[in-house]
Amino acid sequence: MMEEMNYYDEVINLIERHHRWRGNCINMIASENITSIAVREAIVSDFGHRYAEGLLGGRNEDGLRIFNRFYQGTKYFDKIEGIAMKLAEELFEGEHANVVPISGVMANLAVYNALTKHNDKISGLTVQAGGHISHTRVSAVGVIGLREVPYVFDNYEMNIDVDKSKSILLREKPRIMMLGASLFLFPHPIKELREIANEIDAYIVYDGAHVAGLIAGGRFQRPFKEGADVFTSSTHKTFPGPQGGIIVCKKFLADKIDNSAFPGLTSNHHLHHVAGLAIALAEMKEFGRDYANQIVKNAKSLAQGLYELGFNVLCEHKDFTESHQIAVDVSEVGRGKEVAELCERANIIINKNLLPWDSLNDADNPSGIRIGVAEITRIGMKESEMKEIAEFMMRIIIKRENPDNVREDVIDFKKEFNEIHYCYQSRSGAYDIIRIE
Ligand SMILES: *Cc1c(COP(=O)(O)O)cnc(C)c1O
Repeated sequence: MMEEMNYYDEVINLIERHHRWRGNCINMIASENITSIAVREAIVSDFGHRYAEGLLGGRNEDGLRIFNRFYQGTKYFDKIEGIAMKLAEELFEGEHANVVPISGVMANLAVYNALTKHNDKISGLTVQAGGHISHTRVSAVGVIGLREVPYVFDNYEMNIDVDKSKSILLREKPRIMMLGASLFLFPHPIKELREIANEIDAYIVYDGAHVAGLIAGGRFQRPFKEGADVFTSSTHKTFPGPQGGIIVCKKFLADKIDNSAFPGLTSNHHLHHVAGLAIALAEMKEFGRDYANQIVKNAKSLAQGLYELGFNVLCEHKDFTESHQIAVDVSEVGRGKEVAELCERANIIINKNLLPWDSLNDADNPSGIRIGVAEITRIGMKESEMKEIAEFMMRIIIKRENPDNVREDVIDFKKEFNEIHYCYQSRSGAYDIIRIE
């Protein structure tokens, strides 16, 4: 008879193996990052056991928002949530922040729910053009029952074609114009679309999930200054906070959006994540500029390196990127699926990605890969390391060297980078397990 597995030991063991492996990897998933040790301590704090349902009240003597809670026991948490809101308003330059959404999709859902009614229209990018699923019918747009109005996308410039989209928008009159994307190389034309939004009385909602850390660091674009009404985001991509969501908006939308987030779509808003978010916001206020600048330098440098080694990196004519991402067309060297799998064997973690000229049916094996440098920048890598990473990828994908051999060199290379930068302190290594004993 087979002995029953000890699941407890097995899961602990799998966590340890995961940490060891990922610590030996170069992680370039564009939607991922790692948090500081202080943020991780917040995540494992007692706040992870508590509830703080409630509605927004006035302000305390420090100017922080206060809350009318339904349960007792929240006096310290209330201050933390107030700090998170204040810092988010400052860093994202908006009038009102809501830190209730527990993910980026939930943030979008809360905004759609607040600002639209069933059958209204929403404009956005298709998934092939880089739009996030939550901008489309398969996800939040479909859940609320909205109708899609896709923008026309300029595949060469890798951006929204405002001139060609204009007549469609004027005719279809979407209630919400979504901006922001998951494949997101260049700032979106908020200013130009603001004029159209004014004509058709639409809200501009800027989904900064990918670029929030760059925006907080004063680098990509300034959504509210350029004309957005609402900013939504995940809190864990270029912004190095715990996994979660956030909404920042203009004052006149605050009540609707707050009510939609709670009690509309959330009961418990995961207080430990709010505490971690407050710490990450404080860190970004202090270190965000340096971090965002180095991210963009690294992205450009990795793109240039890959291009010089023979990769078809998109948008060479625009210096490849202004964000943390680069997109590579690998249709001539194995296509997305094989390329991503070969890289994984060599401990280089990336994802296959649809490019604008792919069909949705190509999702399993699209023509592209997407590479993000937020995490490798956070552990201290600079331009010279980008050249080395480009070499590793060239050996695997173009020279077709055995990935197992390249892996040895990747592990060796990665050994130097085990500290978290752009944060206050770093008592543990970037990939250590946080133990509480
Ligand atoms: C990742 C992403 C989201 C979703 O965020 P989750 O936190 O995973 O729910 C929303 N919008 C865009 C543009 C994204 O890239």
